[in-house]
Amino acid sequence: MLLKSKLPKVGTTIFTVMSQLAVQYSAINLSQGFPDYDSPPELIGLVDKYMKEGYNQYAPMAGLMKLRERIAEKQLLLHQSDYNPDTEITITAGGTQAIFTALACVIRPGDEVIIFEPAYDSYAPTVTLLGGVVKPVELSPPHYAINWNEVKDLLSPRTRMIMINSPNNPTGITLSDEDMQELLSLIKNTEILILSDEVYEHLIYDGKQHLSVSRYPGLKERSFITVSFGKLFHTTGWKVGYCLAPEWLMTEFRKVHQFLVFSVNTPVQYAIADFLGNAENYSGLNNFFQVKKDFFSNLLKDTRFDLLPCFGSYFQSVQYTRISDEKDTDLAKRLITEFGVASIPVSAFYGNGTDHRVLRFCFAKKQETLEKAVDRLSGV
Ligand code: GLN
Repeated sequence: MLLKSKLPKVGTTIFTVMSQLAVQYSAINLSQGFPDYDSPPELIGLVDKYMKEGYNQYAPMAGLMKLRERIAEKQLLLHQSDYNPDTEITITAGGTQAIFTALACVIRPGDEVIIFEPAYDSYAPTVTLLGGVVKPVELSPPHYAINWNEVKDLLSPRTRMIMINSPNNPTGITLSDEDMQELLSLIKNTEILILSDEVYEHLIYDGKQHLSVSRYPGLKERSFITVSFGKLFHTTGWKVGYCLAPEWLMTEFRKVHQFLVFSVNTPVQYAIADFLGNAENYSGLNNFFQVKKDFFSNLLKDTRFDLLPCFGSYFQSVQYTRISDEKDTDLAKRLITEFGVASIPVSAFYGNGTDHRVLRFCFAKKQETLEKAVDRLSGV
C-alpha cells in the first residue's frame, strides 16, 4: 500500500536531526534549545513529594486549578492583565502542543495564516496539516525588522490568523511597542486572530521589555498566548506549558485539547504550582541568562563569526560570510564532524530554505560548555 503523505515536504525536525548528529559525533550540542545544567533541586523535590504522596492519577482536563491560579497571578503581576483561571487558562503538554491546539481549533481548509520567517519549525507544517495556507513574510538579518506594509499587502478576506513570536526563536529579536501598534491597526475591523508564542518571555536582555499581547486590550481580546515551563524552569523534558485566551477562544481550544492530550502530568503540575507561587523563582531569570549571553557573545567576538543582535531567547545567531560561502546546512554539518560543535542552520526556519549564511547557537549551557565550544569554534 502507498500512503499519500499529508506533509510531503516535511522531513524530521531540524532539532532532532542536529541533536542526533551531535550525539553520533560526540559534539558539544549548542543546537536544540535546552539547558545542560540541573533543574532547580527544590522543584525536583516537590515532584518527588507529590508522587510519593499519591498524586499520580489524571489531572483535571484544563489543568490543576492551583496552577492555573498561580499563572493568573503571574500574568497580572507582570502584565497587569487579568485571565480567569476557570475559563481562560489551560495547561498543555508544552508550548508546541499549545500552538498545535490553538491552530487546530480555528483553522479551516483554505484559511490563510501569516507567519514571519525565520519561524519556529512547527508553525508552517501545522497550518498545512490543517488545510490552511501559509503566507510567509520573510525577514532578513541583521535586524529582521518587520515591514508592516508588506504584511498589509498579504491580507485577504481569507486571512484567519497572524502568528507572532517575541522574543523570537531563532533571531533573538523582540517586537517593539510600534510593532504592536502596527499590528493593532492592521487587524482593526477584521476577524483576524492572533497567536502569540511567548515562550521566551522571561529571557530578554539589555533593558528590553517583554510586550505581551495581553498588555494590549485590542489584541488580547482575539489572541491565544502560548508559554512553556520548560524554558522558565530549565525543565524542557517535562513538557508542561500553558495557553491563555479569552473565554470564547478557550472554549474551542479545550474542545480539541481534551481529545489530543486530555490532561497533563499531575505531580509536575502540583510541583510547578508551589514553585511558581514564589516570584523569586523566576524574577532572577533575566540576569541569569544575561550573564550567559554576555559571556558567550564576548567569547565569540574573538572568532571569525559575526554576531547578530540578540535581545531575547536563549539563542545567539551568527553570520559566517567572512569564513566561507558554503550553505548553512553544510557548514552546520562540518562544524559537527570537523570541529565538534552542533548548531542550527537558520535556513531550516524558512519555508523555501532561504539561506542568509546564519547559524543559531543555544547559550543555555554551563560556562565551561560555552568556553569549550568557542575554543573549538575559534579554529574555524
Ligand atoms: N524550542 C527548542 C529550539 O528551538 C526546541 C524545541 C523542540 O526540539 N521541539 O531549539
